[in-house]
Amino acid sequence: MPRLSEVIAALENLWPAERAESWDAVGTVVGDPEQEVSRVLFAVDPVQGIVDEAVKLGADLLVTHHPLYLRGTTTVAASTVKGRVVHTLIKHDIALHVAHTNADSADPGVSDALAGALDLRVTGPLVPDPGDPAGRRGLGRICALDHPLTVRELAARAAERLPATAQGIRVAGDPDAVVRTVAVSGGSGDSLFDQVRAAGVDAFLTADLRHHPVSEFVAGRAPTTAPAPLTSLPPLALLDAAHWATEWPWCELAATQLDEISDRHGWDLRVHVSKTVTDPWTAHAASFEPTAGAPN
Ligand SMILES: [Zn+2]
Repeated sequence: MPRLSEVIAALENLWPAERAESWDAVGTVVGDPEQEVSRVLFAVDPVQGIVDEAVKLGADLLVTHHPLYLRGTTTVAASTVKGRVVHTLIKHDIALHVAHTNADSADPGVSDALAGALDLRVTGPLVPDPGDPAGRRGLGRICALDHPLTVRELAARAAERLPATAQGIRVAGDPDAVVRTVAVSGGSGDSLFDQVRAAGVDAFLTADLRHHPVSEFVAGRAPTTAPAPLTSLPPLALLDAAHWATEWPWCELAATQLDEISDRHGWDLRVHVSKTVTDPWTAHAASFEPTAGAPN
């Protein structure tokens, strides 16, 4: 049975901490390097429900995409939400390890898993990592479709293939436009609009999109370029999925990667992926279809 330090070294090899963004907080949050690991759980969020699931499962290590603490704290008292997470983990000898933006930019990374879930062929990163001579690492991915789809069909595929959430998939732009190339970025992607424009793709699938940037973007304006000329840019559709759903496929990819490592080392790890939906949105009331007539 491997020690935690050995498993962490393998994870660090997949997602080196130094490749995380400077503002990020990745790595081991809780855990004794000497403790033995036999069962591992992957999840997107280090929230209490996931930690309780790890306890029930008898996991020794929880690996999450999102950090527990992104900024410094002065307390891990169990009277605080995150402190309770820390207490539960320590009480049950469960380690917590985080791979966030270092997993985003990895090859394969979060957006490769997202593209894979939708059967999209990755042709390269959206924002290449200048430190990668192979040109495969970086943020987001540019993908090609083997058969063109309308935006509406692509949204339907995303809704079907990504884990179900209350939000589903929202579309901005012409739903009947044809998509041959699409950029994808797991998690909040509206900081990548300029790069998406520059990539010349037909659509962009990401999460956490907001009214004003989206409104300007689909109108053909580059949001950060002022004053923007009217209709200077070709139309481009946006698909907005639930943040959690766009990152969850990475958990399956990462679990497969750790399984392979475990086989290679003869570790016999039991590797699990949490299916608990931790997207914070819990219900969605659909409005009238615009084509079905206006409400009375
Ligand atoms: Zn995220």
